[in-house]
Amino acid sequence: MSDPVDLLLRGARLPDRDDLVDIAIAGERSHIHLDKVLLTDRVTATAGTLEEAIRVTGQAKRGFTVEDITSRARRVLDLAVRAGTTAMRSHVEVDPLVGLTGIEAMLALRAEYAPALDLQLCAFAQEGIVQAPGTEGLLRRALSMGADLVGGCPYNDSDAIEHIRIVFGLATAFGVDADFHVDFSDEPEHLHVREIAAQTVRAGWQGRVAVGHLTELAAVPGFRQDELVAEIAGAGLGVICLPATDLYLMGRQDELNVRRGLTPIKRLLNAGVPVALASNNVRNAFTPVGTADLAHMTFLAALAAHMGTPAELRALLAMITTHPARLLRLADYGLTPGSRADLVVWDCARAEDVAATLPARTLVVKRGRVSVEARHETVDRWRAP
Ligand SMILES: [Zn+2]
Repeated sequence: MSDPVDLLLRGARLPDRDDLVDIAIAGERSHIHLDKVLLTDRVTATAGTLEEAIRVTGQAKRGFTVEDITSRARRVLDLAVRAGTTAMRSHVEVDPLVGLTGIEAMLALRAEYAPALDLQLCAFAQEGIVQAPGTEGLLRRALSMGADLVGGCPYNDSDAIEHIRIVFGLATAFGVDADFHVDFSDEPEHLHVREIAAQTVRAGWQGRVAVGHLTELAAVPGFRQDELVAEIAGAGLGVICLPATDLYLMGRQDELNVRRGLTPIKRLLNAGVPVALASNNVRNAFTPVGTADLAHMTFLAALAAHMGTPAELRALLAMITTHPARLLRLADYGLTPGSRADLVVWDCARAEDVAATLPARTLVVKRGRVSVEARHETVDRWRAP
């Protein structure tokens, strides 16, 4: 007598094998700023630079309320769940401008969306820590209230090294992971990732630290990239590439051969570094377009990072599934017997079709239950019946 089956998916093709299998169930993910999504009708950004995006969003942030953040974040969470996201990390800004309003709103949404989505909340110092007095205490309170991890943004502070040290102090004091926005420029003017790698090893936090953007890594010569990638791999850092934001904000000073401004994905993957693709921002001054569908990020990265072979297209799928699962340290993740039953049924024949064709998500399964069932019918009426 076999165990009872709640859900049986027949004739499915897994990303890593060619034959069709049945999946018996007896039960994807993202880095995103839910607190500042859907602001394009509220802020005016004309220069399109990172500095302007931070400035105009800081102005808008003074007017945020719990209700406002909740309603904007809910619209984007619904899009993400329908697109097949079953786990997500959201950075939530904590600073003297917005206080703990974002954390308050997002803690309630984490509970509301628990049946569909594991939401990790990263208390995030977007405005700096040293240059924004009071922020460290607010981060501490956010972690006490239930934030899952802590994040910093050393390029936007007056003392980047001290900023990183404070974030690690909080991470180790609360026993939580750390997730930085780092080295977000066209030129290698910061390279703070080296300090983060060193402090990660010093704290014994290998496997618990992620860095987003890291676009400056692409701006040093190849041999130097290899040296830095070795430091990143040695410290067990994960990297999060944010192709929509990075393509939009980088290369703004270039008049000729405008740079793409993406971290060197293939070099990092070849060194064994987990690399995730994430949405980052959805319709605000940092990224004016977006639908919170991670398949779109694979499509963008295929072009912008020159990843077009079948193996590279499958690697892109791993960058929205298994790699981010490692970064979020999700237990029992995968399509193997005994793994937790979180999965997405894509309407396509091969794993590489996800990036190549952006297929529909037929079913989304969370903890063994169907969380989303898509029904969509198109009739080509122009054809003869
Ligand atoms: Zn971000």
